[in-house]
Amino acid sequence: MKRGIYPGSFDPVTYGHIDIAQRASEIFDELIVAVLKNKSKTALFSIDERVNILQEVFKDLPNVRVISYEGLLVDCATSTGSGVIVRGLRAVTDFDYELQLAQTNRVLSGGVDTIFLTTSLKYAYLSSSTVREVASYGGDISRFVPPLVEKLTYEKYGL
Ligand code: ADP
Repeated sequence: MKRGIYPGSFDPVTYGHIDIAQRASEIFDELIVAVLKNKSKTALFSIDERVNILQEVFKDLPNVRVISYEGLLVDCATSTGSGVIVRGLRAVTDFDYELQLAQTNRVLSGGVDTIFLTTSLKYAYLSSSTVREVASYGGDISRFVPPLVEKLTYEKYGL
């Protein structure tokens, strides 16, 4: 079985992430969407909330499994039997960081490769941080995230 892992913070999940996950799910027999607990980021949604949201968002994709993981991505890849890491590339600004991460993970894991899917142009500008920023001021995020995420994000800001 070919299994890929798509890691991220997904705080919150956007249409950009969903697009990458949908396309990756067609490449692999199983795609694991892994919510990674990132020590250096303060999150809007808890890990459990993000897992629940992602499960709801991907409920119609039978070969997508959502998990959470605290620790190194390569350990998560190994323990889930994932041979390939999937990441999305939006713009050249993502590239330096992603290249470094991919190379580090390959060395650490002894061979787990990373593949990059380029974002659909209509989502190229989209990031979770922009969604949080716009929502925090009561701006319209309906074009960026699914209705469930829209509602829950506004709730976080007391809107
Ligand atoms: P991280 O904190 O690991 O960067 P994110 O949740 O921000 O986690 O992103 C997870 C992955 O999805 C990354 O590979 C990121 O480049 C990609 N991604 C984020 N937003 C988009 C988008 N709009 N289009 C395509 N890929 C995206």
